[in-house]
Amino acid sequence: MKFCSQCGHAVTLRIPEGDNRLRHVCGQCQVVHYQNPRIVAGCLPIWGEQVLLCRRAIEPRRGYWTLPAGFMENGETLEQAAARETLEEACARVRNLSLYTLFDLPHINQVYMLFRAELVDLNFAAGEESLEVQLFDERDIPWSELAFPTIGRTLECYFSDRLERTYPLRNEAITALRT
Ligand code: ZN
Repeated sequence: MKFCSQCGHAVTLRIPEGDNRLRHVCGQCQVVHYQNPRIVAGCLPIWGEQVLLCRRAIEPRRGYWTLPAGFMENGETLEQAAARETLEEACARVRNLSLYTLFDLPHINQVYMLFRAELVDLNFAAGEESLEVQLFDERDIPWSELAFPTIGRTLECYFSDRLERTYPLRNEAITALRT
């Protein structure tokens, strides 16, 4: 960050009074521009024994398979964000959302929050950010072609928990070293 988004003046990096971290502070209007982690919300859409994956049409990881997920917007709930991303990327409607995996990604300042969700019907299709959208049985999951560690981990948890028919909330940290 170089310039203040409030007044356009140059910002400097310093520790504000009473704070303990470096922040971008405006030299003109004194506004402190805090930067905080961003939330990625999404779904693991389920149809019977199958799960819905999307093949990414955009970078990063274009051509790799992912779950429908994206950055939460202001003014929506987490669940609304997850359902919206599923509609945008897979043109799919979901119901009975249940928060399932929560990943801390401190090296990229993100928190992933993914819901288990039932597909309402089979009317899904590739949205603008997807090349294709497809249902997979467990044995057909393209494990080596998944876009992000959060996606693989969520699928691992799901197929493991499904054996027990119980789905506890999974909260894990994924660091830069684990890819
Ligand atoms: Zn300013």
